[in-house]
Amino acid sequence: MENKTMMQYFEWYLPGNGLFWDRCIAQAEKIKENGINMIWLPPAYKGATGINSVGYDVYDTYDLGEFDQRGSVPTKYGTREQYLKAVKKFQDIGIEVYADVVLNHMTGADEVEEVYAVENNPENREEEIGEKTKRTVWTKFTFPGRNGKYSDFTWDHTNFNGTDWDEAGKQYGIFLFDGKAWNNETDDEFANFDYLMGTDLDMENPETVKAVTDWGKWYLDTVNPNGFRIDAVKHIRFEFYRDWLKELRDHSGKDFFAVGEYWSSEIDKLTHYLDVVENSMSLFDVPLHFSFQDAATSNGQYDMRKLLENTLLSERPENAVTFVDNHDTQPGQSLFSFIPSWFKPIAYSIILLRNEGIPCVFYGDYYGIPNDNIPAVPSLKKLVYLRKKYAYGEQEDYFDDDSVVGFVRKGDDEHENSGLAVLMTNAECGSKVMNMGEKFAGQKFYNAMDLTYQPVTVEDDGTAEFYVDGGSVSVWVNEEVYRDICLNIE
Ligand code: CA
Repeated sequence: MENKTMMQYFEWYLPGNGLFWDRCIAQAEKIKENGINMIWLPPAYKGATGINSVGYDVYDTYDLGEFDQRGSVPTKYGTREQYLKAVKKFQDIGIEVYADVVLNHMTGADEVEEVYAVENNPENREEEIGEKTKRTVWTKFTFPGRNGKYSDFTWDHTNFNGTDWDEAGKQYGIFLFDGKAWNNETDDEFANFDYLMGTDLDMENPETVKAVTDWGKWYLDTVNPNGFRIDAVKHIRFEFYRDWLKELRDHSGKDFFAVGEYWSSEIDKLTHYLDVVENSMSLFDVPLHFSFQDAATSNGQYDMRKLLENTLLSERPENAVTFVDNHDTQPGQSLFSFIPSWFKPIAYSIILLRNEGIPCVFYGDYYGIPNDNIPAVPSLKKLVYLRKKYAYGEQEDYFDDDSVVGFVRKGDDEHENSGLAVLMTNAECGSKVMNMGEKFAGQKFYNAMDLTYQPVTVEDDGTAEFYVDGGSVSVWVNEEVYRDICLNIE
């Protein structure tokens, strides 16, 4: 079995030229060869901002770049036909495809409606401000460009519970519709964080739940993804996705994989959510992302022994999808917390070379982000390749120093020459004796990350004193692996 490695195959600032699905097809074999075998593709349906939409301002989930809506036929990424071809291309060569599902909100409605609503305090969504007032809101979605194809369902204010814009009064605010409540249970920030943006889907309304469940089945039948990446789960009634996933899995007859975005650094919130959904999905390891951020920005003061504490990787490895950055944390985006470039190889060595969780590599790290003149993380392809071929076997930790920490993978019989030693520091250079196992006795080990390092020799008892330069990571491999890396990785 080959290690699983996911890639988030987009960043925020891809060009809006409708050619992205073609790029996917063109790059698929290269990334598969490198070690990627799961891919998370961006939301493939029409957003309110049409060809410029990254995909999270959802307008019509049935329009995969097929109808002249919101100013164009294609989405930012291309047409429905190209999308389906890209999905098939990935699957044909052994890459599983995960589709991005955004069911918290919609935006770009076709018509306004007049509703009574009460304004809430944005900082405390259970506190009303003023009297019930008539508001003009964008809540009627009729999709005239699609004209009932695939589904004749249209949306109105009864399918939502609130919005943030009164068209008649030209006023922003958190407006809860008359007769509605924010859904429970959702994240408790601002008392109740059901409302995020746009018009908020009311998941207490059975008609709304049926609409998004019917759509999910249609999507499975039409696109045939291997599973889903699920957006904004903390803003949706927690029990909703437990039931939605069950119904869709029953429909497809497959126990497909799903990973949710619960954006919180608090491990207890994530484990609670996993409990409520009965582990029917995994979650992105947001606490680990923030540990990386803390370690990288502490000027060497962060205690590296704590790096993995209170993360999903430690607490719920079976349900952890680890990552370093994503389209929301990159510069200019809503959750900006981009890991500084010097620390990126350290962070990626953690998520890619350890045995817990499924790592998710960010497109912007793999290829760079031209919009912000950010280059690709230089060693990332190497680490993905090392994971694919050599990061196997028993894992032993050496998180025993406040700056220089490491771990070894002792290799297994199934993967030739597998086994490696990883040593990292967020401060000064250092060294550490680690045990690779006696089967490596007498072998020379080389640092695959920096070919100028002198090799070290493994002693008869399986130990060697590995070393690392300041603010970096070294990944020690035997001579055969070193040769493979030199020959096959740019
Ligand atoms: Ca919501």
